Amino acid sequence: MTMPIVINEDACTQGCTICDYFCPGDIIYRITPDQLPVVKYPDECWYCGICADKCPTNAITVIFPPQMLNCTTDVRTLLGIPVPDDGSMPDDTPEL
Ligand code: SF4
Ligand code: SF4
Repeated sequence: MTMPIVINEDACTQGCTICDYFCPGDIIYRITPDQLPVVKYPDECWYCGICADKCPTNAITVIFPPQMLNCTTDVRTLLGIPVPDDGSMPDDTPEL
């Protein structure tokens, strides 16, 4: 499987625990303060991006899988909103 996040070894200060602390799924694990964090459960990452957002040195890159980037499912379906057979939008749909 593709690793969901990549940690730049040169940019990571290796001393902070921020990514480990903030990851809601406990996917990142820092074994000791002098080691790079380990992506321990990559298949459980849900790509929220908090680790990358909170990293003070921008050492983390989130690698989104192609099926997320190229999703063709209507957003209404994802939100549980009925979609007409012809895929049309209701007349009162606000302009984006
Ligand atoms: S993207 Fe979210 S779930 Fe995945 S490792 Fe980072 S903080 Fe954890
Ligand atoms: S938050 Fe960034 S700098 Fe800190 S341990 Fe994680 S990857 Fe390294």
